[in-house]
Amino acid sequence: MIRRTKIICTIGPATRDPETFRRLVDAGMDAVRVNFSHSSHEDARRAIELAREVAQDVGRPIAVLADLQGPKIRVGELPKPVAIEKGTEYAFEALHDADAGTTDGAIPITYPDLASALEPGDRLMFDDGRIAFGVEKVEGSRVTARARTHGVLLSRKGLNLPGKALQVPSLTKKDRDDLAFALEHGVDYIALSFVRRAADLAELRDLVDDSTLIIAKIEKEQAVRNLVEIVSLADGVMVARGDLGVELDFEEVPIVQKRVLRLSQESVSIGITATQMLESMTSSSRPTRAEVSDVANAILDGTDAVMLSGETAVGEYPVEAVEAMDRVARRIEGEAGFLEDPSDMGPPLVRTGVHRTVPGAIAGAAVEATQRLGAPFLITLTTGGYTARLVAAQRPSVPILAVTDNPRTYRQLALAWGVVPILHDEPIGYESMLARARTYAFEHGLAEPGRECVVTAGMPFHEPGTTNYMRVEKL
Ligand code: PGA
Ligand code: MN
Repeated sequence: MIRRTKIICTIGPATRDPETFRRLVDAGMDAVRVNFSHSSHEDARRAIELAREVAQDVGRPIAVLADLQGPKIRVGELPKPVAIEKGTEYAFEALHDADAGTTDGAIPITYPDLASALEPGDRLMFDDGRIAFGVEKVEGSRVTARARTHGVLLSRKGLNLPGKALQVPSLTKKDRDDLAFALEHGVDYIALSFVRRAADLAELRDLVDDSTLIIAKIEKEQAVRNLVEIVSLADGVMVARGDLGVELDFEEVPIVQKRVLRLSQESVSIGITATQMLESMTSSSRPTRAEVSDVANAILDGTDAVMLSGETAVGEYPVEAVEAMDRVARRIEGEAGFLEDPSDMGPPLVRTGVHRTVPGAIAGAAVEATQRLGAPFLITLTTGGYTARLVAAQRPSVPILAVTDNPRTYRQLALAWGVVPILHDEPIGYESMLARARTYAFEHGLAEPGRECVVTAGMPFHEPGTTNYMRVEKL
């Protein structure tokens, strides 16, 4: 059985050695995330090289996703960790480049407009919400806030200001450097953190070529409010539950997850569910029942991919974590009827927008014909990958064999739900690409000669987004 849900692993100190990396691939990793919040360019280069090498070795693609830190606010450099006592008042002061470090005993914060953003009653949430303060006073550039929790505050820890619309550029200087590095190394996807509105994505879009796919990380309340326009502009969306669960009340997260995943399918955008999926496996060889349920439910919600963060970056059981995800995904996908009404949230997808255009109609018809013929899979001939992703968004009950002549498309499709990317390294043409799919299917025991199968394509081949062709072929 071919697993339809894809698995993304964040690569870090625990998984950057060639042996462990190879074991992740063997366990079922489909894509690597290079997290520029924690990776040097040297670390990133190693992960990208490993992905390319091992993919070549195993004969299937591994996508590389470069994750830009975005405008994350942090604690500045502290001379020493600050022990926080619940009920005590602390002073915070914004760091400006010019006076870095001179905050006069106050805790330095890397957001120049800190004071003007806050008023009494607002919350400061540090370190994933573990250390919380309530603002008491704002005087000039100084913010005084009372601790609501105990804890120890360290340099560089993240700060969330829940519900605040911040005056920050969507791409920092660091992001631009990291982006240049990522593009130079030919990464397949760029993820942008703390997206607030479609304009943030447009800014990134201007800096990358059309074949680079962009993922919007949904982790701000503002992004949830602007969800429809963000999803329609992005090639993928990530439910970034780590920050999202601090920016919003945590009980909002499951509902946002369902909305994002439904909308992503509706808009032919790749949906990714991220953070704490198997958190306990950072130090345990088995997942908790709640984690197993969480992975299963994300799949039932219609996610294209599930992501591992600390579990594979710094965890003790990275390979076991991938194996656990693989097992859960296969079990859920094997359950009869799981595609019919994935989230049990009412009628199946409404099918608007792109689904009612010519490409959408062709993709829908191809899936319908596949079902009526009982065909073992669907074949898609694609250069940019859009036809394959559009067919995938119909969630057919059989695999999608996507033949492409473009190595980048081949890698990008590793992340698309239900898609089996096949690289065609000869000149493109209908007959030769079909022959490639046929050979692949026979070699992998997916069908016997003589079976009927639906083929979709966009013609002419090199015009992107023109899914306009469907034909039933005999294998
Ligand atoms: P991060 O994004 O790991 O880069 O913070 C994911 C999240 O916030 O959930
Ligand atoms: Mn985040």
